[in-house]
Amino acid sequence: MAVEFGQAEREFLARHCTNLDRRVFALRDLPQVVCGALFSRYSRSPEGLRRVLVDEFWRQPDLGLRGGEVDRERAEDFYRRVLVGYGDDSVAELASAHLAVEDVSNLAAKELERSRIGISPLEKSTRYVRFDIPGPDGRPRYYRGPELAHPAYEPAMDGLFATYATLFPEVLERVRREHPREEDESERAWRSATRARALDLLRGLLPAATLTNLGLHGNGRAFERLLVRLAASQLPECRILASEMHAELLQVIPAFVQRAFDERHGRPTAEYLARGQQRAAALVPQAASTTVEPRGVRLVSFDRDAERRVAAAALYPHSDLPLAELEAREVDVGAVLEALMGERRNRRQPVPRALEHATYTFELTANFGAYRDLQRHRMLTQERQLLGCELGYDLPADLVGYGMADRFLAALEEAAAAQRAIARDLGPVLAQYAVPFAFRVRWYVRLNLRELYHLCELRTGPQGHPDYRWLAQEMFRQVREVHPRLCSQARFVDLGPGAELERRSSERRLDQRLARAYNCYGSSM
Ligand SMILES: Cc1cc2nc3c(=O)[nH]c(=O)nc-3n(C[C@H](O)[C@H](O)[C@H](O)COP(=O)(O)OP(=O)(O)OC[C@H]3O[C@@H](n4cnc5c(N)ncnc54)[C@H](O)[C@@H]3O)c2cc1C
Repeated sequence: MAVEFGQAEREFLARHCTNLDRRVFALRDLPQVVCGALFSRYSRSPEGLRRVLVDEFWRQPDLGLRGGEVDRERAEDFYRRVLVGYGDDSVAELASAHLAVEDVSNLAAKELERSRIGISPLEKSTRYVRFDIPGPDGRPRYYRGPELAHPAYEPAMDGLFATYATLFPEVLERVRREHPREEDESERAWRSATRARALDLLRGLLPAATLTNLGLHGNGRAFERLLVRLAASQLPECRILASEMHAELLQVIPAFVQRAFDERHGRPTAEYLARGQQRAAALVPQAASTTVEPRGVRLVSFDRDAERRVAAAALYPHSDLPLAELEAREVDVGAVLEALMGERRNRRQPVPRALEHATYTFELTANFGAYRDLQRHRMLTQERQLLGCELGYDLPADLVGYGMADRFLAALEEAAAAQRAIARDLGPVLAQYAVPFAFRVRWYVRLNLRELYHLCELRTGPQGHPDYRWLAQEMFRQVREVHPRLCSQARFVDLGPGAELERRSSERRLDQRLARAYNCYGSSM
């Protein structure tokens, strides 16, 4: 392969391709816009990528690649010209950015994490980070946008954070007393596991207004879509975020997010989305007043033909029958599933796509803390109702045992009163900011069996937060009730009781990994 290039071309290619003569190679040290344009051209060329790189990019005096330094603006221009001839939005997936978004409310964070394809979020953890560390102004870190000017808001939010701050050392001390360090446990592992438990117990005090930080890694197309969705939001905070995020993305992948707010694409789409939501809201039948509702999982609907469909889908690639005919045949579902998954050794070994032919709709009622966790699953359809305080709250039993429930509840009650006053005066959308994580929310989840395996095997692990662990266990139990054979291969769902200290065994395993890593460094240094 390499012989087709002259000496200067080979030197250039060696800088930007991981090899010159094999059929698999990676690009390096090229701006994303050049990689994006290069791949776009590649898909329309009979030549290999190295040839396209040399002929259409290296030889382009415009791009400045010959000197080794790329002229970014010209590269952007070039990409736009390539795009004109392409006509498919997928080329906007060819560049990505790492975007940090700081000091946003949890309400806005959930909007940022809503994307399903193309964006990977990571958010500050309520299990490992204390949320009572004040901001630069010495005040607790919660959202205080001008739209929330209401006399009840800040006193209630200050009260929640003050309670969190006072209770944390007390709860930690009690947790450590109840769960003393075990003989074979390191000081680090014990401190970390007990601290995580204390923070888990108190997270219900945090309001949806709590500020958090997120890292988003995503491609241009997904960011563009996210920006448009944020621009259509009812929350002013999200609309402001949309323009702030756009301004930063324009500095790193401008060609890929250029349409987010233009008059032809982005703006009309945001307006279309916003108006649609308004019109739909006006059509809601008059609801009966909501009353306190216990946490719960309800399997609303499932497919009675699921076994037949899954078995047919599993055999389809090995058969020459049309799908409908395969579905009509008598097949031993258990044997098919055993053949495909009988040797599965851990939850990371994937289950077949055939399981996607069975779907389930659940309605969940649980505290907002648990919703925050499960909302992160992207391979499903879920929508929540507005946060409020009518459905009641969850009080961790340990806090009652420690005699600390009164202070926890007093802060929740004050926040609930503020939420009601804000809902009355400013509307229920803005009142969501005042709702602590302990209060319950209703949402639906529609997912297929393959995602159910993933979610339930991951979320029933004993190290998980008990609130979401219970939900995942219950979802699995209800599906197993209606489809026992389809669930028979979900061997890594843990329906047992929780660990007495959730993070204890994970921290021990971390100790072992750290020891291995240090030994490894030790021997090589
Ligand atoms: C114990 C625990 C601790 C956690 N701590 C944190 C934390 O501190 N901060 C935080 O932000 N989150 C945390 N999470 C949430 C976690 O990062 C995931 O967002 C969440 O568990 C959803 O898992 P998932 O991405 O595997 O599932 P799904 O989104 O349902 O995806 C299912 C599967 O599809 C594939 N997939 C989906 N999207 C992509 C993609 N874009 N690229 C590649 N593959 C994809 C993957 O194979 C994935 O496993 C934690 C989760 C657990 C269980």
